[in-house]
Amino acid sequence: MPNQAARILPRVAIVGGGISGLATAFYLAQARKGGAAVEEFLFEGSSRLGGVLRTEQLAGCLVEAGADSFLSEKKEALELCRELGLDGQVIGSEDHQRRTWILHQGELVPLPDGFEFFVPVRPWAVARTRLLSWKDKLRMLREPWVRALNPPQDESVASFVERHFGRGLVEAIVDPLLNGVYGGDAGQLSMRSVLPRMAEMESRWGSLLRGMRAARKQRARNAKQNPRPPLFSALQQGFNQLVAALGKRLPSERTFCQRAVTVVERTGAGYRLHCSQKSSVDVDALVLALPAWGAARLLRGLDTELAGQLESIPYASSMIVALVYDKDAAARLPAGFGFLVPKREGRRLRACTFVGQKFRHRVPPDRALLRCFLGGVRDEAVLDLSDEEALTLVQRELQSILGLSAVPRAAKVFRWRKAMAQYTVGHGDRLRVIEESLRRHPGLFLAGNGYRGIGVPDCIRSGREAAEACVQFLQASGG
Ligand SMILES: Cc1cc2nc3c(=O)[nH]c(=O)nc-3n(C[C@H](O)[C@H](O)[C@H](O)COP(=O)(O)OP(=O)(O)OC[C@H]3O[C@@H](n4cnc5c(N)ncnc54)[C@H](O)[C@@H]3O)c2cc1C
Repeated sequence: MPNQAARILPRVAIVGGGISGLATAFYLAQARKGGAAVEEFLFEGSSRLGGVLRTEQLAGCLVEAGADSFLSEKKEALELCRELGLDGQVIGSEDHQRRTWILHQGELVPLPDGFEFFVPVRPWAVARTRLLSWKDKLRMLREPWVRALNPPQDESVASFVERHFGRGLVEAIVDPLLNGVYGGDAGQLSMRSVLPRMAEMESRWGSLLRGMRAARKQRARNAKQNPRPPLFSALQQGFNQLVAALGKRLPSERTFCQRAVTVVERTGAGYRLHCSQKSSVDVDALVLALPAWGAARLLRGLDTELAGQLESIPYASSMIVALVYDKDAAARLPAGFGFLVPKREGRRLRACTFVGQKFRHRVPPDRALLRCFLGGVRDEAVLDLSDEEALTLVQRELQSILGLSAVPRAAKVFRWRKAMAQYTVGHGDRLRVIEESLRRHPGLFLAGNGYRGIGVPDCIRSGREAAEACVQFLQASGG
């Protein structure tokens, strides 16, 4: 534990060693290199760093147990890789074979090429799909003439999409997409917080079709100068590589695993952290890089109101089931990255990735790796199944959907309890109230996926911003 007597530089404690906390520590260390007077301490409750980022080997395949990859267009993750000297290790998804399938009346139907996310930018390419009725398709074509509401209040993604394109699109495409990505429910997720760019597009163009077409033209012009990067990026050896590179930069004498912080108290000028193993430490500033409910627990004694506000951000749990097959057993996999399962299909599988077709290098040529996603807000109960029950369930559904009856060569179940923040309607207002409450606690900062973005690049940004805010605070208070 830090020696209280030999205190020279202002201290910052970071609680949580997931990507948000690791990024905070990294950018604080960078600031110190740049001359800032700061000394960072990292406290992680479990025995390993990385949180939801964890890579394992399974029968010769590289399996991401939690997050799978990151969106290349959000620059923070690629920037961090560059700063860590890992840029040569970044690989892109095999976009030439990108195709998503959607389960429809028990059969896999391809998501037509004419969609950009959920906007049918090329309506004629969409016209032939079986996923939507003729009524739905005609409704979609009318979108440029539907009067945009620009509602002053936040609304759900489902309500926004329904206003533009009708209910059919919500049920067939939007809800399964959001359920597959966030484990969320389109009827509850906030349009402004989850898809802010679409909400802005409505304000500017009224019609999303018009807005998307203009954005495509702009992108095409830009693409002449800068070719478009692959949609998803990952590291050659998986997220563990990023975690290890960040871990190496941490000063070992100030990094503590298996040291959960249990209580945070105010001291005259800073904070006192009580940790497991009955130790405590005094710091000048504090970054809670935890799920919002985890931050709430620590702050209950300090500020019940703030703790209550943090607790009101809901989280979903999820289960990842990875199965490795011999290639010939899984020869019938459709081409593409995988499939999504709409609620109306009545299955427990939410989505499945054909990993070798998305990231070739992760799977040897004689194997197939399927990564199945279960749980989310509609099926928290799936996490209580034993591994055996979960595997039986997944294999039964894969057999019925893909005709895959072979026994997997290896399989593993990963559970992530309350790890996926849900930005439900009103999230923006909740954040404003939280920010207001934080003013009562100078030197206390929050990072993590509960606030302004759930993806890995968003969490890295939240860590970088927390580090910058800490440095500013310490400088302003004379540190
Ligand atoms: C199943 C799943 C799949 C995902 N897939 C993707 C994806 O493909 N791409 C993408 O961009 N994003 C994805 N995400 C989202 C992204 O991975 C997460 O939002 C991000 O990794 C969260 O990082 P974090 O550091 O904020 O939190 P966490 O990873 O949850 O880390 C928090 C850390 O704090 C520690 N901790 C908790 N309490 C204490 C305490 N009291 N004291 C000390 N330590 C404590 C925990 O042990 C943990 O290590 C996925 C998320 C999940 C759950």
